[in-house]
Amino acid sequence: MTKQLKRIAIKVGSNVLMRRDGRLDVDRMSDLVAQIAELHESGKEIVLISSGAVASGRNEIKPLKKLDAISSRQLYSAVGQAKLINRYFELFHKYGIVCGQVLTSKENFGSRMHYLNQKNCMEVMLENKVIPIVNENDAVSVTELMFTDNDELSGLVAAMMNMDALILLSNVDGIYNGDPALPESSVIREIAGKSDISAFIHSGKSSFGRGGMLTKYHIARKVADEGILVVIANGARQRILPELICGAPVVCSRFLPSKKPASNIKKWIAHSGGLAKGEIQIDKGAENALYGAKATSILFVGITGVTGDFRKDDIVKIINENGSQLGVGRAGYDREKAIALMGKHNARPMIHYDYLYLD
Ligand code: GLU
Repeated sequence: MTKQLKRIAIKVGSNVLMRRDGRLDVDRMSDLVAQIAELHESGKEIVLISSGAVASGRNEIKPLKKLDAISSRQLYSAVGQAKLINRYFELFHKYGIVCGQVLTSKENFGSRMHYLNQKNCMEVMLENKVIPIVNENDAVSVTELMFTDNDELSGLVAAMMNMDALILLSNVDGIYNGDPALPESSVIREIAGKSDISAFIHSGKSSFGRGGMLTKYHIARKVADEGILVVIANGARQRILPELICGAPVVCSRFLPSKKPASNIKKWIAHSGGLAKGEIQIDKGAENALYGAKATSILFVGITGVTGDFRKDDIVKIINENGSQLGVGRAGYDREKAIALMGKHNARPMIHYDYLYLD
């Protein structure tokens, strides 16, 4: 890696932070904090996305009666997040570094206003040399409101904050070209362009967190396509972060960034497909136009249906007559105005082509 990596998102998974017995591995945390402090000292802007709330809480409290999956996750994360951030605060404090907690949820990525508030919060922290430590607000985000895992969250944060690199730290060295347990398998060191290596990936999940290598792979591809370098590396390796940043030949999987980075707005739209607030249905003519040679906006004349409760600038899905999703875009109008303009000529587009992302 080269010196021009100035802004770096680092995601630390539960498996990196937990010992085998399920306790928070404070030595590992302290070691990672030391590495991050070194990068911070050298002028890098770091955003840390840390899992470990649920796992730390599980070890701290025994529920008085049997709880369902949602309640136990809420209880554990509420307690565990407090413990986790406390530890980070103390550890960074030793280096004279201030860190701060940002808890977020899917909702904050679907609405433009929340998205910009959140971005502003992290920008002001970075400007003031504070390290944002981000996690999902697990205590209140449940079931369909949840991110798939913190890999998804870290991809969103990397795109939102215009990161130069996203480093996903896990308890393996990277993506293997076979079963990692077999001696003949080795780590795929570089993934460039459209090469599809998903067939190599085992679908096993990590034991403490929600993620797995397959989600890491999909997120890594998407983020690299947006012009951000993504690295999957082993968080248990000594000095992994400084070595990665200075370009030492450490074993890891690197997803090379696309040469044509997407604009910020396109990044947001591309990542926010699952977070759409509404749906715009278009007729066959409009659908055909979308796939023509010319960049085309979604015009009201081709809109046959508007559903959901969205405001101007929120993300909406674009669906065809059969209900299949064609892509996502940024709404040019609130729901009420969109309904009033449906089928009309001579109105500004519902979704301008600059704010449109086809699947
Ligand atoms: N947000 C969860 C936690 O801190 C982890 C989610 C994941 O495993 O990716 O416990």
